[in-house]
Amino acid sequence: MMTNEELWQSVLAQVQFDVSRANFATWFKNTKVVSNKEGEVLISVPNTFSKEWLSSKYQSLILKVLRSCDNNIRLISFSVESSSTCSPKARPQIQSDDSMDSQLQFLELKVNPITNLNPHYTFDNFVVGSFNELAHAASWAVSEKPGHVYNPLFIYGGVGLGKTHLLQATGNKLSKLSPNIKIAYTPAERLISKIIESIRNGEIENLKKKLCCLDVLIVDDVQFFAGKEKTQEEFFYIYNTLYQNQKQIILSSDRQPSAIPAITERLRSRFEGGMIADIGCPDVETKIAILKNKCDERQINLTDDILEFIAINIQKNIRELEGALSRLAMYQRINQKVPDILIAKKLLKNIVVAPQKSTTFKRIVQAVSSFYEISQDDILLPTRRKEIVKPRQVAMFLLRSELKESYPSIGRRFQGKDHTTAMYAFEKISQKMEEDQVIFNEINTIKQKIYSEL
Ligand code: ADP
Ligand code: MG
Repeated sequence: MMTNEELWQSVLAQVQFDVSRANFATWFKNTKVVSNKEGEVLISVPNTFSKEWLSSKYQSLILKVLRSCDNNIRLISFSVESSSTCSPKARPQIQSDDSMDSQLQFLELKVNPITNLNPHYTFDNFVVGSFNELAHAASWAVSEKPGHVYNPLFIYGGVGLGKTHLLQATGNKLSKLSPNIKIAYTPAERLISKIIESIRNGEIENLKKKLCCLDVLIVDDVQFFAGKEKTQEEFFYIYNTLYQNQKQIILSSDRQPSAIPAITERLRSRFEGGMIADIGCPDVETKIAILKNKCDERQINLTDDILEFIAINIQKNIRELEGALSRLAMYQRINQKVPDILIAKKLLKNIVVAPQKSTTFKRIVQAVSSFYEISQDDILLPTRRKEIVKPRQVAMFLLRSELKESYPSIGRRFQGKDHTTAMYAFEKISQKMEEDQVIFNEINTIKQKIYSEL
C-alpha cells in the first residue's frame, strides 16, 4: 500500500504531462492527499479558488490517475486547509516551491511564441532504433533540404511513440540552420479551431495569407481533420499554395492516410503524395537506451535491473516510460536516495501491465511455414515462386500486427526487401481479411499456433 505522500507524488508525476506547466504550477502547488479511506481520497488545497478550479477542471483527470495507482479509489473531495486546521503533526509539505520547481525543470518549456516550437525536442535527444529509423532519416533529410526532398513528409504511428518529438526536432533544426526561415508548428486541432474562428470573424483570408507565406508548415495529428469538411477545404487551399511554391509541409497522424476516415479524396491523395514513414514500437534494448538517455537528462540514477524491469514491463509507449521515470525520480527526491528494485516494483505496480501473450519473429515464421507446409528458408530467402508469395505476405502481416515491427525492419528480415514491400503486404492481407473468410480463418489458425506453442 502506498502512503498518501507516495500516492500524491505519483499523481503529480503523471498529471504534469497532461496539463500545461503554468496550470500545473498554479493549481497543484501546495496540494496534498490528507486521507485515503474506503475509496475516498481527501485532497487538501491552499484556498477556495484552487478548490473550485481543481474540482471543476481537473476532477476527472485526478480521479483517473488516482485510480491508476489504486483502483479501490472511487471518490475524491477537496478541502481548504487553513493554517488553523493544519494538524501540528502533519508532515512537512513535500512539494515546497523548491522541489516543485526542480521537478519541473526538465519540462521548462520555453515554447517560441512565433513558431510554436519547443526547444526541448531535438534530434540530439531523440533515440533512433529500427522502429523509427525511417521516420528519423526522412525528417533529418527534410531538415537539411526543406521543400526539396520529401514533400509532404507524412509521419504516422501510435500515441506516445515520438511523432511530435520528431516534428518539433525537425522544426528546431531548421530554425537553427536558417534563423530567418518562416516556420510554424501547430497541432491540427488548434489549426482547425483557428480556421473556424476566423471564418466566423471574417478573418479567414488574413489567416490564409499568413499561413501561405510560411517556408515550413508543420501540422501535428492531422487525423483530427476527419469529418471537418469546411476546414479541409481551407486547409487544402493553404496546402496547395505552399506546395506549389516548394514550401515544406510536414504532417503527422496516428494512422496512415488511407485509414483516416472522412477526409476528402483530394486531400488524402495530397497526404500520400510525398514520403510516408511509420513509427513502430521500440524493442526492449531500444527502450533501455531511451530510458538511459532520459535518466541522464533528468539526472536520475537508476540501476540497470530497474531500467530493464521498466523496459520489459511497460509496453505501451515511450510516454509511459517517462511516466515511470517520473515516479522514481519523485521518490528519489523525497527520500534523498535511489530506489532499489523492490521499491521500484512497488512504485510502478499500477502502471506495469499484466504480462501479455507474447511472441517472437522466430515463432511467427515457424507457424507460417508449418501452416503452409513450406520451409522457413522459402519464406525468408528471395524467391519469386508463386506459391511463396502469399505465405511471405502473411508472415509480414503478422510481424506487423503481432509484434508492431516497423516496415523497414520487417523488410530487412526478408533479405533486403524494402519497407514498401512490407507495407504493401500488410495492407493487402488486412484487406483480404475483411473480404475473404478463408484468409480470415487461415490467419486466425496461424495466430492460435503462434500463441499455443508457448
Ligand atoms: P506522439 O506525438 O507520437 O504521441 P511524443 O512525440 O509526444 O509522441 O512522444 C512522447 C514522449 O516520448 C515525449 O516526451 C518524447 O520526447 C519521448 N520520445 C518519443 N520518442 C523518443 C525517442 N525516440 N527518443 C527519446 N524520447 C522519445
Ligand atoms: Mg503528438
